[in-house]
Amino acid sequence: MAEIPAARQQGPSTLAVHGGEPAVRDDRSLTPPVVLSSTYPFADTAELVETMEGRLVRPPEYGRYGNPTVAAAEAKLAALEGAEAAVLMASGMAAITTTLFAMLRQSAHVVFTEDVYRKTRVFARETLVRFGVEVDVVAPDLGAIAAALRPTTRIIFTETPTNPYLRIVDLTAVAELARSRRIKTIVDATFATPVNLRPLDLGIDLVIHSTTKYLGGHNDILGGAVIGKRGPIDAIREQLGTLGAIPDPLGAFLLARGIKTLALRVGRQNDSALQLATMLEAHRAVARVWYPMLASHPDHAVARRDLRGGGAVISFELHGGLAAGTALVDGVEIPKLAPSLGGVESLIEQPALMSYYEMSPDERAAIGVREGLVRLSVGIEDLEDLRVDLTAALDRL
Ligand code: PLP
Repeated sequence: MAEIPAARQQGPSTLAVHGGEPAVRDDRSLTPPVVLSSTYPFADTAELVETMEGRLVRPPEYGRYGNPTVAAAEAKLAALEGAEAAVLMASGMAAITTTLFAMLRQSAHVVFTEDVYRKTRVFARETLVRFGVEVDVVAPDLGAIAAALRPTTRIIFTETPTNPYLRIVDLTAVAELARSRRIKTIVDATFATPVNLRPLDLGIDLVIHSTTKYLGGHNDILGGAVIGKRGPIDAIREQLGTLGAIPDPLGAFLLARGIKTLALRVGRQNDSALQLATMLEAHRAVARVWYPMLASHPDHAVARRDLRGGGAVISFELHGGLAAGTALVDGVEIPKLAPSLGGVESLIEQPALMSYYEMSPDERAAIGVREGLVRLSVGIEDLEDLRVDLTAALDRL
């Protein structure tokens, strides 16, 4: 008997454009309609009863439980990650907090890795612990994660690449470690994008994105998504129906629209960022550069094995400390001084003055945030324009 060939996996550009889309829509539109309806009437009580008994499948009856435009964006996100299902929420933080509330209960233990997004750590240390969840925050390496595990550990929550030093966690090893102990693994892969890394392919259970960043891509929406097997996604969606941090349909439309160019944008950002990182490493004003695709990065070997590209973000330290960083971010013309990353516009910031402003230099040093650190998110502008702009500002230091 002839073997049935395995379904060929489409590339990221094809998935970004066509993934999750029906062959033909009921209304024959090429793009999904924006459905602005808070409630979805039943034809009559018979239809209501049929639906409640599970004999009829129709849109959810109320907007907090689902929306057709949101569902279209979710289908595309699932296709991009090669997953069964996705659930979209109002922000990346909504995706993180709703997921953890859905999966944890009193006395459960969670291991977080150190440089997960700052507000994720704040949620763990200030909110989860109030509900009796036990939390450990450890270095993003296998030894430290393994040493922190307890019989009550339910979740390992990590992030890759991390912020600001772009550490690359060995997800295959983390997934293996967790599976043997029936621990669930969650990865915030916002910095990676499904173009550069698909954590589910490496055995991770759930992947989270702040869709505010690369996926939306245009710095005009906030959103967050959780992607994985249907069972856990349904449970998280159920929790979302109670907590209520749902996305709005117009934002979901803009997300699905933005995703169509994701692979093009990220490919360009990977190329431009690598060239700029190489240029920065050779400049006299720069003390050190962190970019996963540079041989000097501590996790370069894992990055080369697991990532298609290093992404848009470059972190670098200037010899001249905070004052030099300020002169640089004020001296460049193209990158705007703003938080966030991954969009079409280049953005630049000093972590010491943005996310960690309220801390003293000593407190920042204690958590590894260097005073002369600058974080650049490379947009899709012409590389030569970015290079000239950045070099001119660096030369003036
Ligand atoms: N995860 C990472 C890695 C982030 O960088 C951010 C935001 O900067 C978030 C989560 C939170 O996402 P949002 O701002 O969409 O709530």
